Formats: sequence, structure tokens, C-alpha cells
Amino acid sequence: MLRAYKYRLLPNITQSIGFSKTFGCVRFFWNKQAEIFNSYNKENNDKVVYKTSTEFRNEIAWMREVSAAALQQKEIDFKEYKKQMFNKKRKEKLGKPVFKKRHERQSFRLPNGKFYIIGDRIQIEKIGKVKFIQDRPLPENCKLMSVTVSKDTTGAYYASILVETQIIHYEKTGKSVGVDVGVKSFAKLSDGTEIRNPHFFRDSQARLKRAQRRLRRKQKGSRRRNKCRLKVAKLYKQTANQRNNFLQVESTRIVKNYDIIKIEDLNVEGMMQNRRLAKSIADAYFSKFFLMLEYKCKWYGKTLIKIPRFYPSSKMCSCCGSVKKELKLSERTYHCDVCGHEEDRDLNAAKNINAMGV
Ligand SMILES: [Zn+2]
Repeated sequence: MLRAYKYRLLPNITQSIGFSKTFGCVRFFWNKQAEIFNSYNKENNDKVVYKTSTEFRNEIAWMREVSAAALQQKEIDFKEYKKQMFNKKRKEKLGKPVFKKRHERQSFRLPNGKFYIIGDRIQIEKIGKVKFIQDRPLPENCKLMSVTVSKDTTGAYYASILVETQIIHYEKTGKSVGVDVGVKSFAKLSDGTEIRNPHFFRDSQARLKRAQRRLRRKQKGSRRRNKCRLKVAKLYKQTANQRNNFLQVESTRIVKNYDIIKIEDLNVEGMMQNRRLAKSIADAYFSKFFLMLEYKCKWYGKTLIKIPRFYPSSKMCSCCGSVKKELKLSERTYHCDVCGHEEDRDLNAAKNINAMGV
């Protein structure tokens, strides 16, 4: 199985110059190919001749300063693009190749053998040993396939490493669980486990809001506004990363601990219309969480069951099965009028989800 691992790169000045040169050469090469492609018309059919990356390197001195492999990879990409353009089976039609611009996200790719990982550095051909933040380890005994080095619009560098790895299924635990995503806590599991919303969610949200407010007050086109905008972009990215990490950790924990995981097929859009719920839902990224559970179950040999929407998971008593006509959002505890059962609302719902389809 192929998987990608993305890491932040911290190049020094010389290395970032090397990256810029490579981005530039690769972009130049692509744009030249696109130019030749677009010059085609029916009369000069036989005159369209593409130059190979080697020919480019032989003719232009500054193109020899960067990795030949990076150019070759772009050559492969261009050929693939042409092939896909004329692929009649393709659903989404591709337009003519477009020119790549300097201010967009920049990238180049190197194949296996042109980069290595040595401690906290990635050795990249023609660039050297670049420091990187290894916030999660590569799987053991994986085979490095390729690396894509990129620079985003905030000026941050990344390396996305594609590896081939054998996924080892998690050990079976013989346990089944219902997961109810909540308002008060992030989620409640049918065995009573609670997953709380981390405090830093609210803190970083507040910081982001303050920065956005400051940005609105700044004069358009001013230097201060620009500085402020960069700050907002950085805070936004930071908040998104925090949440993503939280979802990754919690979804892995669930998939590791249970064999059968049951979730509600959530109608997130319908819930968003309820204004009191909207913030919490946007905050917690429930749908993203469910997606992670889904693919991780596939990877690690576990089962995910989606319970249909119309199933009254929160209105039903997990003890006797009677269903209430109405249950207000403000009622945090479930009281059963039939059997007298009393339980935390979300736990009651999680138990019902788990009981479904046993
Ligand atoms: Zn009851």
C-alpha cells in the first residue's frame, strides 16, 4: 500500500536558494512544453517537436545547476497529462496544459535513490541535508518511493514522502462499540468512555477571531494589513493542524481498541441549520472524524457500520427500548417515563447505536 507522509522542511538560506532554482527550472520546462503543445494546429501537424529535458540541459547552462531527475519527473508528468487529455474513458475532461506561475504553490518531485533520510535531515540531491520536523515516524521497513518538495503561499516548505508499506492489521479485541458525537463532549462511546474537546480548541479559536478583527480594522493595501494577514493565515493553519492531530489520535485509538465500530450516518447539513449546534459542529469536524474512522478501519482490518439516519438513537431508551416523542437539546440527561431509566444523554445514544445491527 502506498502512503504519503508530509513534513515541514526547515532549509537554510543556501538550501532555499537551491529550492527556488529547482522550482524555477521545473516551471520553465513545463511552460516550454505547454507552449509547444499549444502551438499545434492542423497545418503544421508534423512540425510539433518536443525537446527532452536532457536537450534543455545541454543547451541552457543554468538548467544544469539543478537536479536532472527533477526535470525528468516533470517530463513524465507532462507526458501523463497529454495521455490523460486524450483518454476518452476519463470522466472529468482535462483542458490544455496551463502555464505555471511564480506566485502559486511551487513544487518538484524526486524519485527513489535521489533522496535519503539521515536522522533529523533529508538528504536531497543537489540541495544537501535539509532539516525537517519529523512529527510522526515513517513506518518501519517501508520503501521510499518519491519525495515532493513544495513551498506554499505563506512561504513554508514541505516534503511529502511517498512510501510503500505493508499495513499490519491491528490485533482483534473482540469488542464492539457505538460512537455518539456530541455537543458537550466531542464523543461518547457506548462503554462509557468520554472523548473531551481539548481546551486549546477554544483558546486558538479566540486568538484567531481577535486577529481577524484586527485585520478588518487595518487600512487596505497598507504594510500593517499585510503583516496582519500573514498572522491570520498562520494562526488559521496552526488551528487546523491542532484539530487534525486530535482527530488522528482519537480515531486511531478507537480503531485499535474495537473490532466493530458503529456510527450514525450524520446529517451534518441539517444540524448546521440549528444555530446553537452550528459552532460546535464546525469546531469538531465530525465528518472528517468519521472519514478517518472509515479509512483506518479498512487499513487495519476492522469493521465500520453506519446506522441509518432515521434510527431514533437519542430518543430511544437504551434500557427498555421505548421511544420518546420529544427530546429537547437542553435535556442533558435521558429520563425514561416507561421504565424509569436515567442516563447521560450521549451515553444513552451511544448504547443504542451499538445495539443496532448486532
Ligand atoms: Zn426505559
